[in-house]
Parts: sequence; structure tokens; C-alpha cells
Amino acid sequence: MNKREFLKSSLLGVGATLLSTSVFSSSIMSGKKGNTLQSGDLFEQPPLGYAFDALEPYIDARTMEIHYTKHHAAYTKNLNDQLAKLSSHPKSIVHIFEHITQYPVAVRNNGGGYYNHNLFWKIIAPGGSREPSAELKRALESAFGSFDNFKKVFIEKAMGVFGSGWAWLIKTPLGLKITTTANQDNPLMETETERGIPILMVDVWEHAYYLKYQNRRREYLEAFWQVINWDQVQHYFQMERVA
Ligand code: MN
Repeated sequence: MNKREFLKSSLLGVGATLLSTSVFSSSIMSGKKGNTLQSGDLFEQPPLGYAFDALEPYIDARTMEIHYTKHHAAYTKNLNDQLAKLSSHPKSIVHIFEHITQYPVAVRNNGGGYYNHNLFWKIIAPGGSREPSAELKRALESAFGSFDNFKKVFIEKAMGVFGSGWAWLIKTPLGLKITTTANQDNPLMETETERGIPILMVDVWEHAYYLKYQNRRREYLEAFWQVINWDQVQHYFQMERVA
């Protein structure tokens, strides 16, 4: 198995764990919607799980409220609306990303928007460890020399995203890497040159910080380190496959 095949096989199935928020399991298992998926309701927006003001003063309540109830909700609705137009239902959101060129651009944009925020809300959820595990710290040191250097490179990469996008720490067969994506793309999409399992990510769309930080993206990125839930990062780090 070469590296490419290994990466591909290691990514398959990641759809399963991170996908736990879709109604593939909940509605079908509960039988609420019968045995067939109904168009327009494939995916549901997971609860935020904490109060809008829980991340104050680093991320303000108003930003969280609008970000979750407007932006993320719209991506979810638009994704479902787009999928309802298709003749067959996708197996999973990760399966969509792995075959993203076969879908309309609206599925790409809204599917990414739906999924990326699902991950991000958990990464910035209150609680959890305030620092990476010893195991993750060693992996970061191996890849970036030191934790401080990792942080510095991550911030610089996130600063370098022109316009709207995301910065990611990903797990690859060759170790941890930092990558960025445009718009709502993510490192699971077949079109990305750097692919891997997302374990830490930051939203650098202006809607994520503009109310509090205006044009000062760097201040937002510095504050981001104060709200990272390292237990959740560890959870993603331990995944062998995305699902
Ligand atoms: Mn966003």
C-alpha cells in the first residue's frame, strides 16, 4: 500500500464518528421518519451544547449567537435543500467530501459550512484540559520543533488565509501538519493537496470575529488559544478514521 492508498483508506470511515450528528442514525433508528430518508432533512444542526456567552471575553456572546443561529443554521438548511434536489442520497457527509467533485458547488459550500462548524463548536467548547496531552505535545514537537513554534506557525498560516477560510491542524500518515482551506472547504475533500483528519481548526471568516475584533484577525487568533478544549483535540487526535 503506497502513501496515497494508505491515506485514502485511513480517511474512509472517519465519516462514521464525526457523522454521529446526522439523522442517519437518530431518525432512522428511532423510526420517527420511517424507513426512508425524507428529502430536505438529511442533516440536523447539533445543539451548541453551551451558552452563547460561555466563551466571553474571548469570543463574545453576540458573535456566537449569530454565528450559530444564523450562519451555521443556514449552511445546514441550504445543504439539506440542495441534497433534496439530488436523485440519490449520499452515504455520509464525509463520503460527499471524498467525492466532492461529483456534487454541485452549493453542496460543497454548505456541506463544508455544516460540517466544519460542527467540529469547531466542540473545539472551543468550555471545559476540558487547558493544554495538549503529553502524547499530543510530543507529536506537535516532532512536527514543529516546539509547542510555541506550532502555535506561531498556526497563527501565521491562519493570518495568511486571504479572504474567508479556515486553518487546520490535521493528522496524516506522515505526522501532524497545518493546512488552510478557502471558503468552507476542508481537509477531507478530495480536491485538497493536504488531506488528513482534522483535529484542531479555526474559522477565519470575518463573521467569526468582526463584531468584537473588527479587522484585527490576529487578536482573535491569539484569543482563540484561550478557549481551546484540548480534551476534544485529543479525541480527534486519537481517531484512526474520520467518521
Ligand atoms: Mn463560520
